[in-house]
This record gives sequence, structure tokens and C-alpha cells, in this order.
Amino acid sequence: MAQARELAPNSRITVYVYNYAGVDESTLHRAQRVARYLFREAGVDAVLLDGPLSSEEQPVQEAGELGPSDFFLHILTREAAESLGLRKYALGLAPGTPDELNRNVVYLFDHIAEKLAIEGGPVRPSRIVSSSDEKAQILAYGMAHEIGHLLLGSNSHGPFGIMRARWNKKDLCDIICGFLLFTPEESQRIRGEVARRNQEKSALRVSVPMSPQWAR
Ligand SMILES: [Zn+2]
Repeated sequence: MAQARELAPNSRITVYVYNYAGVDESTLHRAQRVARYLFREAGVDAVLLDGPLSSEEQPVQEAGELGPSDFFLHILTREAAESLGLRKYALGLAPGTPDELNRNVVYLFDHIAEKLAIEGGPVRPSRIVSSSDEKAQILAYGMAHEIGHLLLGSNSHGPFGIMRARWNKKDLCDIICGFLLFTPEESQRIRGEVARRNQEKSALRVSVPMSPQWAR
């Protein structure tokens, strides 16, 4: 049995998941649990929360409390993906360029998760995973892949595993069964970036109440 990993201080990230595509709740929450597990195995304490979809719902947090270790994940419909002019096969997107500091927004596309779950169906060993869980697994790995881009910076695609640019049939099978993890090298880079963002967040918290020099 795997040993519970001790998480380092400064290993927390919070991911607000905005379910604009209306993925059913049990699928989405399973995906959030699996994504949490994938980050935990990399040494990161990822808290995935439902983001409010209307102003009547609870606000995420006081704006002043948000910082570089908070992420916003939008699950979009096919129509939204098309209006953004995105590649037809992409499961997700991390907008911006790798050299941008503190990028914190990613998109996932519900219709592609649906399609990959159907493609992965025939390779699924039915005694391990039930068919209703396939889409949740794909969404979870999509979440890990896209947030992985934000945390790994440049050269974030790898030759295999979660960070492969395009998953093949075997990857899909491994994803559905939950066999893939971030590599040790990716995990180390991810932990480093999460720690840096948390340090910056604490620094920002301290600096908020102070009036800047030039305003005095
Ligand atoms: Zn990618």
C-alpha cells in the first residue's frame, strides 16, 4: 500500500472550477477528487472547489485574499470552444505564454472529454472502472494537464504520461484506470513553482494594507 506523503509547507493550491458546460455533479466531483489525488502524489495539496456561476451565489473569496496560488478552471461547451477558435481535438487550453508569471486560468472542453471517454470505452477493463467514471477520469487528467502547464512553465509537454501533448490509446486506457502520474521530475518542478507562488502570496498579503511609498 502506498505511504501517505507528508506535504511540505507552502504546498497548497486552490482551484475554482466553473462548470459552465453543466457536467453532472457526481462526474465533476469525482473528477475533482481524482485531480486532487494526482496533485497530492506530486506533493501538492490541491483544493478543488465549485466556482459560483452567478452573482447570486456565494463569491469565491474576498478579492484581496486571492493570489498566485489560486487558479480558475472553466469547463466550457462546444459552442464556447468554437467561438474562441480553438483546435478541434484539444481537451483544454492554458491561455497565455509560458514565460508569463502567475498565469492562473485554464479551460477544459466538455464535448472533447465526452468524445475521449467514448474512444477510451473499448479499451476499458470493465472490472476496474465503471463506464460512468470514464469521463470523470478524463476531466481529472485534463485538469492536471492544463494546470500542469501553468506550474511547469516552458517545455511543459513531456514524452509520455499526463503531460504528453496528445494522449494515444494506451494513455487513454491508463487514464481511465488512473495509472498515470506526474513524473518525478515534473513533480519536483511543480512543487517548486507552488512554493514560489505561495511565498509570493504571503508577501502580497503583507503588502496589501501598506500604502505605497509614492502615495505618501
Ligand atoms: Zn498540453
